[in-house]
Amino acid sequence: MPAPPAEPVPDSVAAPSLIGLDEPALRAAVIAAGASEAEAGLRARQLLHWLYVRGAGDFAAMTTLPAGLRAGLAARFSVARPEIVAEQRAADGTWKWLLRFADGQEVESVFIPEEDRGALCVSTQVGCTLTCSFCHTGTMPLVRNLGAGEILAQMLVARDRLDEWPGGRGRHLFTNVVVMGMGEPLFNYDNTVAALRLAMREDGLNLSRRRITLSTSGVVPRIDDLGRDLPVGLAVSLHAVRDELRDELVPINRKWPIATLLDACRRYPVRRRITFEYVMLRGVNDGDADARELVRLLRGLPAKVNLIPFNPWPGAPYACATPARIRAFAAIVEAAGYASPVRTPRGRDILAACGQLKTASERRQRHTRAGASRPASAAA
Ligand code: SAH
Ligand code: SF4
Repeated sequence: MPAPPAEPVPDSVAAPSLIGLDEPALRAAVIAAGASEAEAGLRARQLLHWLYVRGAGDFAAMTTLPAGLRAGLAARFSVARPEIVAEQRAADGTWKWLLRFADGQEVESVFIPEEDRGALCVSTQVGCTLTCSFCHTGTMPLVRNLGAGEILAQMLVARDRLDEWPGGRGRHLFTNVVVMGMGEPLFNYDNTVAALRLAMREDGLNLSRRRITLSTSGVVPRIDDLGRDLPVGLAVSLHAVRDELRDELVPINRKWPIATLLDACRRYPVRRRITFEYVMLRGVNDGDADARELVRLLRGLPAKVNLIPFNPWPGAPYACATPARIRAFAAIVEAAGYASPVRTPRGRDILAACGQLKTASERRQRHTRAGASRPASAAA
């Protein structure tokens, strides 16, 4: 069943945003702004083009729309981006943006450039309701879900800052989206799906399904929904091969244990292999026996295993497995026929690596923003 049209993100101060609205909702918006029923379809498509092909950040730029309609839209709606509170670049070229939405809530998104491609890691929630013991975001309580427009706006900000709209001087490296930032995307299902649908439109951001990967800690019923609604690449945060340990590392396991989770993976439409993420924690889950059990569990599944060196954060109760241990673990998994790349940590020096994201929406004390090119304006 298609996701219902996204509602504008409610906000008492700012005008409702048009970012994130699907075509029927944009039609309603142009009619509210004075367009006739007859022209509404055309105007909605023009709006989509300006927003997602051209990257217009205000109505004045939308020169194919009649001036009266632009004024009508500007009086009622907004297409503004979230505020970039801080922008950092790591030594390895990774970018991190701290974004603040109209209600003051903040999330981080991270862009990871590679030679000829690049992935934007987007957040779907402010904080997370889950409390995975190795994850920094998990130490934040959930503040709220992001709206579809707020998820999509992270992509628009990346295009802006990388100068990758048509005519821009960027190298068009923003090719992939990984839904692996703050939050559990399958607990914000409708908004995440609505944002990805818009991101995939050919007459929009045109990111192909093959270049989108969503990571979940294992919300089993929603994995089935995703397989039916929008089967993008699936990554599953496995991290442990015994329920007793996974209960501790990924507490959602108490609700949907390993066998139930892997059954859902087996039902997921196989367009490409499922990625199993496995964080390497010294002396916790990194033994040869764990690797052998992993291989046994995955038997028959088209899978690859992404070994993630644990990224430390202040106060974390774990250490990263040793490089030799990670190599030995990978060798066992590979010998069984599964690719098991070790994920190179990116942006660790600016706390932009996996599991290091955490914003001041909860913290009182912000981390120092050394290297931020824009100072925090109204920082609390
Ligand atoms: N909530 C989703 C997506 C965001 S987390 C999920 O859990 O899958 C993205 C990935 O980073 C997950 O695989 C998560 O387990 C991993 N991760 C979290 N904290 C980490 C840390 N400190 N070091 C390495 N990986 C971490
Ligand atoms: Fe939430 Fe994912 Fe972190 Fe777990 S690993 S606390 S699900 S963001």
